[in-house]
Amino acid sequence: MKRTTGQDRSITRQWRPATQAVRGGTWRSEMGETSEALFLTSGYTYDTAETVAARFAGEEDGMTYSRLQNPTVAMLEERIALLEGAEACRTQASGMAAMTTALLCQLSAGDHVVAAKAAFGSCRWLVDNLLPRFGITGTTIDAADNAAWEAAIQPNTKVFFFETPANPTMGLVDLEFVCNLAKKHGIVTVIDNAFATCALQRPLEFGADVIAYSATKLMDGQGRVLAGAVCGSTDFIDNVLLPFQRNTGPNLAPFNAWVVLKGLETLDMRAMRQGENALKVASFLETRVPRVLYPFLESHPQYELAKKQMKAGGPILSLELDGGRAEAHGLLNALALVDISNNIGDSRSLMCHPASTTHHGVGAETRADMGIGENMLRLNVGLEDPEDVIEDLDQALRAIGL
Ligand SMILES: *Cc1c(COP(=O)(O)O)cnc(C)c1O
Repeated sequence: MKRTTGQDRSITRQWRPATQAVRGGTWRSEMGETSEALFLTSGYTYDTAETVAARFAGEEDGMTYSRLQNPTVAMLEERIALLEGAEACRTQASGMAAMTTALLCQLSAGDHVVAAKAAFGSCRWLVDNLLPRFGITGTTIDAADNAAWEAAIQPNTKVFFFETPANPTMGLVDLEFVCNLAKKHGIVTVIDNAFATCALQRPLEFGADVIAYSATKLMDGQGRVLAGAVCGSTDFIDNVLLPFQRNTGPNLAPFNAWVVLKGLETLDMRAMRQGENALKVASFLETRVPRVLYPFLESHPQYELAKKQMKAGGPILSLELDGGRAEAHGLLNALALVDISNNIGDSRSLMCHPASTTHHGVGAETRADMGIGENMLRLNVGLEDPEDVIEDLDQALRAIGL
């Protein structure tokens, strides 16, 4: 295995993101394959006992066991790090494995976390249910309110944890303000960047410390595999995250890493086109339903902030109807092209009712606190012709009398 010509990292770092997306992190075997090789192997063999001893002692580079290193996984990690503008990256089996790893690797009993109250259901569950079991307390706040971040800081606050845009309320966090505030207080920011991805938003440029991903979403982009990733400084990844990951084993499988590597080649194109399509669909919906939440609509309360920190609005929007669950389910049941599905980031348009699916598990009280009503629907706009998606939504709205 060797790096392809020009794959010296000091050179690949100079490449523009579109180039990094198709070439960054590529290693080639002696076969000279053009597409990245898939190494479905758990272990490795060695010419001599001294070689393996040197590798375990950290005196020689090389693979020893796929919970520790795998060439296909390493290619994906290097590519994501390049695209994110991060020094280092490690991947995990799912987005939730990434979130859990990013938090537990650095938190201990007695620490405190400030988190956005609107979040993916399982992310909120970590803060409300998992961390307290290990003596880590949390405060959840309205993350759009800059003053709330400052007010929630305690002497033992170690981490700020949030998504922007948030799932599914589409609220944004002011990255520059919150990351600077954290720095002033020695707090580590852990940002779930699943909705925008590095194609549309690079939080490190606003002072973020750790970026955590569900790569299942826009990074794979075709609804095939679960994957997660955590990016940060070399010091954080090697000295804080790796000891946890190597010994607890939330690793990404090589096959899934290979699928996501292929997904990254088209990430920028898909993210931009799906954002364009979503804006068209959001503008149509605004003429037909009481409320549409999409960062690049002028009606979004944080439109100016969206323009500042995002390149485009991304594929996902939420809408609110006047009625309750029956009306929201009625709209879903009337769809002909758009699928009823709780996944996002896919090239297909997918719609779901968060209160009865992704956010069912957090309970009615937490949903109310997050601002997720029975009248809310979330739509992932895919790569279909947006006119077909609009026509489908139009006929479904008519079918329920709207
Ligand atoms: C889907 C999602 C996750 C969880 O990712 P999985 O890959 O499903 O484990 C975490 N955060 C956000 C914002 C998500 O949308």
